[in-house]
Amino acid sequence: MNNSFKNIFDQYNWDETLSGILSKNENDVLQALHKSKRNLEDFKALISPAAKPYLEQMAQISSSVTKKRFGNTIQMYAPMYLSNECQNICTYCGFSMTNKIPRRTLTDREILREVDFLKSKGYNHILLVTGEANKTVGVDYINNAIKLIQSKFANITIEVQPLDQEDYELLIENGLYAVLVYQETYHEEEYKIHHPKGRKSNFEYRLETPDRLGRAGIHKIGLGALFGLEDWRADSFFTALHLQYLQKTYWKTKYSISFPRLRPHSGGLEPKVAMTDSDLVQLICAYRLLDEDIELSMSTRESEGFRENIVGLGITSISAESKTNPGGYVVEPQSLEQFEISDERPTEAVVAMLKQKGLDVVWKDWAYNWQ
Ligand code: SF4
Repeated sequence: MNNSFKNIFDQYNWDETLSGILSKNENDVLQALHKSKRNLEDFKALISPAAKPYLEQMAQISSSVTKKRFGNTIQMYAPMYLSNECQNICTYCGFSMTNKIPRRTLTDREILREVDFLKSKGYNHILLVTGEANKTVGVDYINNAIKLIQSKFANITIEVQPLDQEDYELLIENGLYAVLVYQETYHEEEYKIHHPKGRKSNFEYRLETPDRLGRAGIHKIGLGALFGLEDWRADSFFTALHLQYLQKTYWKTKYSISFPRLRPHSGGLEPKVAMTDSDLVQLICAYRLLDEDIELSMSTRESEGFRENIVGLGITSISAESKTNPGGYVVEPQSLEQFEISDERPTEAVVAMLKQKGLDVVWKDWAYNWQ
């Protein structure tokens, strides 16, 4: 059997990790702030409650590091939901198998209609999203969708069910650029509560997905946890641990981090652990202070006001005008969403806001531009 992150993950205990974070003091925070190269212990200090009084300082460092590394630019992408069919039960998702909603999977013609809309808005980096239903939206369907649109976009990213290494190799050959695979929570018992049925209930298979991607030679992997399921500080520590393991093991691959907070959806689940706006700002800055090169992504889950405040502080990519229902842009705008988005402004308004803040919009992926 191949080595994987699981071997490292098993050496850690959730409760000890969390109490290690909560016990960081002012001195630990000050030490972390004054270092030029920070490690995971510093990251713990920066996400701890003890760092709260230093948020302004963290934001200033994060902002200037981001400017130095990425210039005054921000990259834009758009999600495109291809299907809401799903054989999993996830307690926080509107597409969960037991939710009685009309199911819909886009045909080739419908995909191309949605693509035309996104192209007319300027997008050149697309994120394809499906639920997990092997018969309708398995590897063949995803492969077909990639082949269908690959000449129209500089970058194609997917956020679909975890796949085997050979499947990823096939998709990469046909134009796949990046894969987003969020662990949702690294708390194994809590994970099982939120994923009681379907292939997603296999915690380990999901945990090892980035390893299969790395072995397949993917260009970029997006990591993250769904905040609200468990303690955000511990989940962020495990995400950072995962990230550093992957960077060391698959050093040719690039990485990004996203920060999804639980949003209202059909069959709604209330967050178990709240994450405030100030917590999220702290976390974004802590990631930037840990890693100058890491791409940090912000979706339309967050509000207009929050997104406007955060773009200058460390975020490097942002979506706009997103629809979280299949065919949501033009084919069937009324179909049921996976979750409600918060910032509903059209792309043009988001671009204008970014420009007003002195940021140039990049429509392709960063890494793509550097190759
Ligand atoms: S989160 Fe994904 S796998 Fe879970 S129910 Fe929703 S679409 Fe299906």
